[in-house]
Amino acid sequence: MENYENIKKIANNCLNCKKPLCVEACPMHNPIPSILNDIKNDHLDMAKDKLFTSSKVTLVCSKLCDFERSCAGKCILAKKGKGIPFYMVEAYLAKSFCENTFVKSQNGKKVAIIGAGISGITCAISLAKDGYSVYLFDKNAQIGGVLTESIPSFRFDKSILINYAKLLDDLGVKVYLNKTLGQDFTLDDLNSFKCIIMALGTQGSRSVLNKTAFLIDGISVLKNIDSYKATFAKKKILVIGGGNVAMDVARTVKRMDAMVHIVYRRDILSAPASKKEITDALNEGIIFDECLAPIKLITENNTNYLEVEKMQLEEHDTHAKKAIIPTGEFRKMTCDYVIEAVGEYPSYEYLEKAIPTFAQNKETILANGYFKYHEQIIFLTGDYLIGASSFAKASAMANKTIKKLEEIT
Ligand code: SF4
Repeated sequence: MENYENIKKIANNCLNCKKPLCVEACPMHNPIPSILNDIKNDHLDMAKDKLFTSSKVTLVCSKLCDFERSCAGKCILAKKGKGIPFYMVEAYLAKSFCENTFVKSQNGKKVAIIGAGISGITCAISLAKDGYSVYLFDKNAQIGGVLTESIPSFRFDKSILINYAKLLDDLGVKVYLNKTLGQDFTLDDLNSFKCIIMALGTQGSRSVLNKTAFLIDGISVLKNIDSYKATFAKKKILVIGGGNVAMDVARTVKRMDAMVHIVYRRDILSAPASKKEITDALNEGIIFDECLAPIKLITENNTNYLEVEKMQLEEHDTHAKKAIIPTGEFRKMTCDYVIEAVGEYPSYEYLEKAIPTFAQNKETILANGYFKYHEQIIFLTGDYLIGASSFAKASAMANKTIKKLEEIT
């Protein structure tokens, strides 16, 4: 429970390490010991100031970060089973983030941001706070990106996005919704902006299987939950993947009264999904079929099958991913539908078509994170630059983009 008495107890247990492993493990590199030290001394405003300066999406991170693999799990005290649960402190402090009155002083510069997901929001808040006139465009009817589109409401309280919308408004950010790049406007329409930030996230889903009528993309399920309810009720569904998207899909489909298995080529302990997501999925009755690599989809005598190959994992090594070794042992799993959730990727199709020099210099541009186009500088950020990642990593990338933008413009 996040009340002041409890977070003070948490802060008092921190050792204030000289080389804090928690900070190293936090994608945002939040100054955790310094924040905890402020709380120890009842300097709550200073603690908030440090957290809000470091992270513009603290409200989201405090709900969705994988703490076991970052601050709490990497804390020096975690070895004794007593890792400092900084996420509880963050959740307590973050409550007032959107009431934060940032100092605004106009610097006469303006920036267009395309994409109002986690990295676009991070950029918009930071730049508006630093005095830029910010114009934020998004293809959806609401801000939030995947938080709006595909994170299930049982995992994230979407009303938080209303608070972010209000904060953007308070900061004077001009938000243009239902505007799709390439359909409703082009980069050339933004030629009055010296700087443009593209924070478009990922657009494509990876696939490892042959296309059939009973194969469905996981993201499309999460985006269109209502349209799948009748299809999946009472059916046997195999979800392929071991990440948080696979867990979200499995838990969403389970709520549609389906029998759900997760098929993963490694074991549960090696799955990239957070421990909490995996535990919740297990507790909700989802069955894990481990160490099975999907091979192909088959229909025989009106029955659908997923053919899988048994995988063997190399000896456990806590410092490296286990190697997976095919055993040559195949089996067929019956199913009604197979849902793939094996990853997403950014698409640069628009830039490749609109700007021929982008296609020619793509690798260098992606390494730099920005390029010049006529009189403009175009930055790429978040998952659009680094590929599908966590919310914290996408926001941390946006922080780096802002730093670079302020350095070179
Ligand atoms: S690693 Fe743990 S004990 Fe050390 S500074 Fe971070 S939270 Fe405090």
